[in-house]
Amino acid sequence: MALATPVGRSAVSLLRLSGSQAQSLIKRFFRPVNWVPRRACVGNFETAQGEVLDQVLVTWFQAPSSYTGEDLCEIGCHGSPAVVESILGEILGAGARLARPGEFTMRAFLNGRIDLLQAEAVRDLIESNTRFQARVAAEQIGGRLSRLLDPLKEELIRIASHLETHLEFVEDEVEPEVRERLCQALGEVASQLDHLSKSFQLGRLLREGCQVSICGRPNVGKSSIFNALLTEERAIVTSHPGTTRDAVGELCEIAGFSVRLVDTAGIRTTNDPVERLGVERSHSEIETSDLVLFVLDGSESFGLLDEAVWEGLRGRPVQLVRNKSDLERRLEIPSEMERDAGKEVAVSALVGTGLAELRQCLGERLLDGLESFLDLESGMVTNVRQKGCVDEALNHLVRSERALTEGLSEEFVLYDLRKALDSLGELTGEITVDDILEKIFSSFCIGK
Ligand code: GDP
Repeated sequence: MALATPVGRSAVSLLRLSGSQAQSLIKRFFRPVNWVPRRACVGNFETAQGEVLDQVLVTWFQAPSSYTGEDLCEIGCHGSPAVVESILGEILGAGARLARPGEFTMRAFLNGRIDLLQAEAVRDLIESNTRFQARVAAEQIGGRLSRLLDPLKEELIRIASHLETHLEFVEDEVEPEVRERLCQALGEVASQLDHLSKSFQLGRLLREGCQVSICGRPNVGKSSIFNALLTEERAIVTSHPGTTRDAVGELCEIAGFSVRLVDTAGIRTTNDPVERLGVERSHSEIETSDLVLFVLDGSESFGLLDEAVWEGLRGRPVQLVRNKSDLERRLEIPSEMERDAGKEVAVSALVGTGLAELRQCLGERLLDGLESFLDLESGMVTNVRQKGCVDEALNHLVRSERALTEGLSEEFVLYDLRKALDSLGELTGEITVDDILEKIFSSFCIGK
């Protein structure tokens, strides 16, 4: 059993109890008159000594139609830590045990309610920071990727059984036309897996979020742009204090991405030795940025300090921003700079003009080259484990395709085909290794 809502004071808290004894345990404390599965029942939660701890709402889900696939009780009580602790204490004292992180979802997986991709998506949904992130995860919980993989697996099985039959019953070699047809079919499956593997570029950005740093010489208006973007963009709210703001970065949402916006002006301090540290820090922030905003002051000409900052940005994806567009323009941007750093976006952080264009440009730059993965119909992989399985399957498919083209014996083709199917099986969790499960579910929160 576990508390499914956050620890602390709230209007209501939800406790969950799963397992074959769930109902008999609850009935020691809660005596509903007429208990119907999936219908919330109100009543007192009462200790054996007749002490009423709270008026609670209990919903009873009968196996296998519950989240875990087992008998499951959800107890909604008033959200006082004292009440929650007392109720938990009573039920634990009666023989229940505390659930491990992700144990409810792990049981759902082990009981065949969901596959591994869906289980991972539950965690992604809980951890999502933007509406788009949530949408991708919700699609995945609904089994989008799993459904997409089914026909691919079926096709591979069809090809494998064709070759197996041939191997067993036919003396002659597979006809060249048949080989060609099978090769083509393998190629089609491979190309879909290739698309899926590449979708990880977007999936990773989406799940892990991205980083955009604001650079430029002092006084060009970096902090003003930083603040203007954060005021415009709803800063992401998380329940853990300290996770939205670190020394210089703040989380916000841009184009559906969770973006850590870094103001490198905030890294520099006046104190000398610290300033050195600050410069090092800003280099490392720039190195890890998915995009760097190179801010220039439009009311002044391009100077040596601007040049020095620009030098430090070489090789990074840069977007030019001309700030102070409310003032008369004196800035000439060197033409090669616009070529390497994207066409300038003019803004006035002070007046607030051009910010919508800047936001749009940021979205486009972050999505650059990834547009084809936005169509969720064709699936997306969002973590390293998933990508690893897809790549592994793909490698084996390429090998079996080559064996088929080179006219090698069917056994070689089949070997890699089976390996490819195994990798796809690992992806959805049909084939599992205990320590992988342990790793996945231990990263869940308790109560899920
Ligand atoms: P930073 O050192 O690059 O972070 O620059 P700041 O954001 O601290 O801004 C430096 C100065 O420029 C401040 O006095 C700002 O008020 C001013 N400033 C910033 N943006 C604009 C703008 O768009 N127009 C004008 N006229 N002044 C600006």
